Amino acid sequence: MSESNFRNFGLSDEILESIEKLGYKNPSEVQEKVIPLILNYRDVIAKSQTGSGKTAAFAIPICEKLELEENDPQVLVLSPTRELSLQIKQDFLDIGRFKRLRCAAIFGKEPIRDQIKALKQRIHIIAGTPGRILDHIRRNTINLKKIKYLVIDEADEMLSMGFIDEVTAIIRNLPKNRLTLLFSATISPEILHLCNTYMRNPVNIEINAKSSVADRIEQLYYEVERDEKPDLLNKIIYSSRPESSIIFCRTKDNVDELYLNMKKTGFSCDELHGGMLQVDRTKVINSFKRGEFMFLVATDVAARGLDVENITHVINYDIPMEKESYVHRIGRTGRAGKNGVAITFVSPREYRFLQEIEEHFEFEIKRGVIPSIEEVKEGKSLFIENLKVKPELKKAKNSELNQEITKIYISAGKKKKIRPGDIAGTISSIEGINPDDIGIIEIQDTFSYVDILNGKGEMVMEALKNKSIKGKTIRVAKAQK
Ligand code: AMP
Repeated sequence: MSESNFRNFGLSDEILESIEKLGYKNPSEVQEKVIPLILNYRDVIAKSQTGSGKTAAFAIPICEKLELEENDPQVLVLSPTRELSLQIKQDFLDIGRFKRLRCAAIFGKEPIRDQIKALKQRIHIIAGTPGRILDHIRRNTINLKKIKYLVIDEADEMLSMGFIDEVTAIIRNLPKNRLTLLFSATISPEILHLCNTYMRNPVNIEINAKSSVADRIEQLYYEVERDEKPDLLNKIIYSSRPESSIIFCRTKDNVDELYLNMKKTGFSCDELHGGMLQVDRTKVINSFKRGEFMFLVATDVAARGLDVENITHVINYDIPMEKESYVHRIGRTGRAGKNGVAITFVSPREYRFLQEIEEHFEFEIKRGVIPSIEEVKEGKSLFIENLKVKPELKKAKNSELNQEITKIYISAGKKKKIRPGDIAGTISSIEGINPDDIGIIEIQDTFSYVDILNGKGEMVMEALKNKSIKGKTIRVAKAQK
C-alpha cells in the first residue's frame, strides 16, 4: 500500500464517501497507477493479479465518470465466471452507492427472461460472461449503443476457457468511441493481438506478481501419495488450525468424496462445484463469507472472483494442472494486505507441475515439514477446544455502507404509471429528507423498491404511511430481498 490518499485523485465526495465506508484507506499499487489513467480517458492494459485491488482500480474511476441521468448502459465488463461477474457487480454497487448507480450481472445457467427484464430497466453497468452477453446481443435484448467503457477482466482466463470468438464478436458490436481496459495476470501473444486490434494507444501497466502474491503468501508443498492425502490433511489441519480455508480438488467427484469424508470426521465444512445449481452455489458462498463454516471444499469454480475476508489457508489437495489456476487459487488468501498460507499436495508423478509453476512465476515453494505425532496430538486438542468457542460471524466489508441503507418496498409500479421521479418527489417532500437521502429506485410492474440512505429508512417508512404517490394510495414495507 502506498502513502498516498484517494483524495489526491480529485474524486467527487459521493465516491470518496463509499471508499471510506468500505474501509479502503490508501490506494493499492494497481489503483495508484490505473485510476489517473482512466480518469484521463486512456486505454489501459494492466498486468495484475487477483487480490491486488484491480476491480476497484477500474470501478472507482468509471463510477466517477458515469452519467447518472443516462438511460442506456454505459459500461460493459466481461469476465470469465459467474462468481466474478457477481463480485464485480457488488463492487460497482458499493462504490457507486451514493451516486445511485445501477448494475446488472448477466451470466449463463440463469433464466434469460429475468435478465431480459433487468436489461429493460435503467442500468448504468453490465457485468457478465461472454457467452450469455452474446446471446442477448443475438436476441437483440441488450442495448450497447451508448457503451463508453469496455473492461475485459481476467483476459487470460477468458481466452483459456475458449471465449476468444465471443469476446471479439461482442467488441464488434460496441461503439468505436469508447475506452477499453484489459486486466490479465499474464499477457500472451493472443491477448496482445486482441489489444493491438481493438485498443487505442493503450498504456501498459505492470504490477509485479511477486509483490502482490509471493510477499503475502507463504507457499509450501508436501509430497504425498493419493491414498495418504486424507491423513496428511488431518495432520495439517490440526497442527496449523486454519481459521478459514478453501481446499481445492481437481474434479467435482473428488470434491464430493473429500467433503463427505471431512463431514464424517466432524469438520465444519461445505462444498462448491460447477455441478451445483447456481442458487445453491450462491448460498454456500454467502454462508462461507459470513463465516458460518470453516472449510470450503471446491473445484476451480472458487478459484476466481471469490472475495472472502480472512481466509488463512488455501490447500491444493490436488495440484492444479494449469499454472494460472495455481495463482488464482492461492490468491483467495492473503487478500487486502493480509498474510496467508498456501499448501500444495504433490505426488511424485506430479512434480513437473510444481516445477512449472515455480519457474513460470519465479516463486519459491518450500517443502513443508510433516507435523510430528506430538504436534498433531497437541494441535488436535487445541482444535477441539477452539470449537467450543462460538465463531464470530464475519462482517461483510460493505456492512458499514449497508447499515445506513434501508430498502423499502412500495406497492405501486409501472402498471400504475409510477416513475422514479414520482417516488423521489414524494419522498423528498417529507420533512427532514433531502434528495441525497434517496438511493437507487427500481420500478417493477406492480411494485417498486427504493433505497433510503443515511439511516433515514424508518423515518421515511413512517411518513409514507400517510402519503400517496401520484394520487395512488400505497402500502410500504421493509423489502425482503
Ligand atoms: P481484487 O483484486 O479486485 O479482487 O480485490 C482484492 C480485495 O482487496 C477485495 O477484498 C477488495 O475489497 C480489497 N481492496 C481493494 N482495494 C482496496 C484498498 N485500497 N484498500 C484495502 N482493501 C482494498
